Amino acid sequence: LLRVEDVVMEFSGLRALAGVSLELRRGSVMALVGPNGSGKSTLVNVISGIYAPTHGKIYFQGRNISGLPSHVIAQAGVSRTFQDPRNVPAFTVRENVLMGANRLYRHNALSAAVNAKWAKVEESRELARVEALLGAAGLSDSGDKVIGDLPYGTQRLAEVARALASDPELLLLDEPAAGLSEAEAEQLVGLIRLAQRHGVAVIVIDHHMDFLAGLVDEVVVFEAGEEIYRGDMDGMRTDPAVIEAYLGAEETE
Ligand code: ATP
Ligand code: MG
Repeated sequence: LLRVEDVVMEFSGLRALAGVSLELRRGSVMALVGPNGSGKSTLVNVISGIYAPTHGKIYFQGRNISGLPSHVIAQAGVSRTFQDPRNVPAFTVRENVLMGANRLYRHNALSAAVNAKWAKVEESRELARVEALLGAAGLSDSGDKVIGDLPYGTQRLAEVARALASDPELLLLDEPAAGLSEAEAEQLVGLIRLAQRHGVAVIVIDHHMDFLAGLVDEVVVFEAGEEIYRGDMDGMRTDPAVIEAYLGAEETE
């Protein structure tokens, strides 16, 4: 589904990604972990088209998407959340999730007229999906509430539901569990599993390994823009390079 080939990303001389390659199959879940500043968000930003890579190629469903604008990549079926939630605070939870349901609508890429037409044609079908997602996120009772008034964890869950509402092939989650309670993290795991059952491939960035365990097919550990480990969770915990670069530092935090 996704193939990242030797991607380099430089920001005015700073090498955030120093040649990253990876592959992801439909329905598989990959965790990206590593210390702060190791390039995790940058990789997700490059895949989703926020930045064009300095070097290297990204293929999605066989098509070279490297450097395409983010709304084009979103329309192709790549959906994402951000490290800092980006809901529309004055809208209700349901409205926020519904906005995700149209891959075009949410990017303001089309005229108001086209959006209005879409709303009529698609709304009932999309609304059913939105209700199902709200249920899966444990947000059925919060659908009519203004999202800006709700706790942070609820907002984050709604953001994941919104990302799934567009029925993506690939879902990119940048630290979705940050600030979630244990119960909310369980809801999040449920949402990711639901996506997986629908064949969605997921890349999830996170520091909380416990939350990822049991969910993830493959873990990739980054340090300074380079992959230092790839494999399963247990192997990662005992890998000397990972302990040195990441796990050792975590313990002293
Ligand atoms: P964290 O765990 O703190 O979120 P990360 O692994 O997601 O870290 P990135 O955000 O990808 O790290 O950052 C990697 C490096 O690239 C850092 O040195 C960061 O300062 C730099 N960087 C990221 N985005 C930009 C940008 N837009 N302009 C300049 N430098 C950037
Ligand atoms: Mg980050």
